[in-house]
Amino acid sequence: MPTSLPISEHDKRLGACVRERDTVARVGADEFAVLLAELDQNWLDAAMLAEAVAHKILDALGQPYQLDGSEVSCTASIGIALFGEQHDDDVEALKRAEMAMYQAKAQGRNTLRFFDPKMQAVVNARVSMESSLRDAMANDQLVLHYQPQVTDQGQITGVEALLRWLDPNRGMVSPAEFIPVAEETGLIVPIGDWVLETACKQLAQWASQPGMTHLTMAVNVSAKQFHQRDFVDRVLMTLERTGAKADRLKLELTESLLVEDVEGVIVKMNALKARGVTFSLDDFGTGYSSLSYLQRLPLDQLKIDQGFVRDILINPNDAAIAKMVVALADSLGLTVIPEGVETQAQRDFLLGLGCHNFQGYLFSRPLPIDEFEAFVKRG
Ligand code: C2E
Ligand code: MG
Ligand code: MG
Repeated sequence: MPTSLPISEHDKRLGACVRERDTVARVGADEFAVLLAELDQNWLDAAMLAEAVAHKILDALGQPYQLDGSEVSCTASIGIALFGEQHDDDVEALKRAEMAMYQAKAQGRNTLRFFDPKMQAVVNARVSMESSLRDAMANDQLVLHYQPQVTDQGQITGVEALLRWLDPNRGMVSPAEFIPVAEETGLIVPIGDWVLETACKQLAQWASQPGMTHLTMAVNVSAKQFHQRDFVDRVLMTLERTGAKADRLKLELTESLLVEDVEGVIVKMNALKARGVTFSLDDFGTGYSSLSYLQRLPLDQLKIDQGFVRDILINPNDAAIAKMVVALADSLGLTVIPEGVETQAQRDFLLGLGCHNFQGYLFSRPLPIDEFEAFVKRG
């Protein structure tokens, strides 16, 4: 960037793009270094954030400058290098960033590059996933599959709705892959609305189908979605619009929800609960729940994470945790359901611990709607 421009102006613009704890320094005539501190431990999240800040900087520096009464614009090239535990030499990091910056420069104006091409590739893939995901919503590529939840007597009491993305190029994309992208980009909010709407429409249909009226529908809700200010209204409006019965709808929350504003979470849960909606705590045992919170949340069910079910017969720690979750549910007056039950031996062991509801491949994989309905009819 031309040094004839008032450096203080660059400084000001750079400063406005970063947080207080970050550092902006001038390292050469027309070179600046920005140090983003305390990024996520997860390098991919850290890289995504660094990239977002870099875009912001490109944007800010791209705005015209007033120089001696005339407008001047300039462009920047940005190189990004991550450093931390693995490479804690900051001089090295600066060199890597500089190398990436030269690559960016060689690519043309107003660009950014990561030092590590592999990192670049992963970040690119994420960005492309984000735009495909936007298209997916517009082009009806999202569908719900339904996985039965069964009692120890073999009765189907309900289902968990699990989102599937049928991408024409990628094939079936796993939610484990695209939900995190959706969360990061905020797309989870419209996607979550769609899931809720579709699940409630299905519930309303079942209400008039013999043999289906009793079924409950568990819907996964992301923390970001739940924290939307109007979440309660959205759910109530969806119930009203679709005609689904509130007491057939079970919202699956995860412990990540409890990281912020527990009081607000309780208020929202109570508001929905007052209308009959029930709550299950998903992936239980993997997160940060403090027992005192747990007691205050108006939950109905704890879901034992499949990570504990998988090796329950061979790993005494997993068995002990499962046993503790059952005891905890019991003492809090909640039901308990293990997920990821794949074998009869796991099911029997869990029954022995006091579980009377189950979910997993042993009973059925998540099924498209017509296969699920056929599954119920077959009994
Ligand atoms: P989850 O809610 O804990 O869902 C359980 C996952 O375990 C599902 O994976 C299900 O297909 C899988 N599963 C069920 N039974 C078995 C089994 O016996 N063995 C094994 N190995 N796996 C089993 P899926 O469908 O890939 O979903 C992954 C995660 O993505 C879900 O975990 C949930 O957190 C998220 N997700 C799925 N649909 C939605 C959605 O509509 N909204 C949100 N926010 N998240 C969703
Ligand atoms: Mg779930
Ligand atoms: Mg789960």
